[in-house]
Amino acid sequence: MGSVGAKEVPVLLSPEGVRTDGRRVDELRPIRIEAGALKHADGSAYVEWGANKVMAAVYGPREVHPRHLQQNTKAVIQCKYNMAAFSVDERKRPGLDRRSQEISKVIAEALESVVFVEEFPRTSIDVYIEVLQANAGTRCAGLTAASVALADAGIPMVDLLPAVAVGKAGGALVLDLNKAEDNFGEADLPMAIVPQSGRLVLLQMEGHVTQEELARALEMGVQGTRQVYDKMRQALRDRYASAPSAEAAQ
Ligand code: UDP
Repeated sequence: MGSVGAKEVPVLLSPEGVRTDGRRVDELRPIRIEAGALKHADGSAYVEWGANKVMAAVYGPREVHPRHLQQNTKAVIQCKYNMAAFSVDERKRPGLDRRSQEISKVIAEALESVVFVEEFPRTSIDVYIEVLQANAGTRCAGLTAASVALADAGIPMVDLLPAVAVGKAGGALVLDLNKAEDNFGEADLPMAIVPQSGRLVLLQMEGHVTQEELARALEMGVQGTRQVYDKMRQALRDRYASAPSAEAAQ
């Protein structure tokens, strides 16, 4: 541990290239995805990603509320990202804040670029993301969950949309920032990439990286999202494999 003023700053990367949680720079945290976790939503998915726990529920296409948001040529995607009061160690004040509004907006825009919204004019596709436990990377876990939930709802999409954050911590680029790296690292770049086409549909950046580092970070993002994509597809395969018995049990 080094120290800056009163704050203890952990050593984010050992000389051997090992991170605070034992991972290598290009390793993801463990990810578990369950498609169709909720009974009453049209589509749903539950994601555990490291210590993050996120539930996504999808409704629609259905009537637009409020009415004035209706669009004649396409569906609107309305997304509500929410962090539960108990999701973080210092109780989060419940309700809408600027951060959750921003995250809701960027997730809705990213999803709009993969959903065939033109097929459902004058409707709304409502996406709810509830963060039950947060530990850095909740927007990526939330977007990943939302995308699986949309597929579970049978909403036509170009492709699933996996997301991951790449960052800079301890002077190196690292895949999938943990909480210490998010707090004390040099940069955080959450991104979402359409797997088949490689199209980047969400990129945010906090902190600083050089142009070369940005190019390398995007490459790491492509590799990382491919791994997340495999988990998403497996979750949907498991869902369909178990669907008949699950229905029977209800
Ligand atoms: N966080 C928190 N309280 C808040 C907002 C965030 O404790 O009100 C924590 C939480 O663990 C979150 C992390 O800070 O995952 C990083 O937040 P950021 O805004 O970078 O979004 P995220 O990485 O979750 O997408």
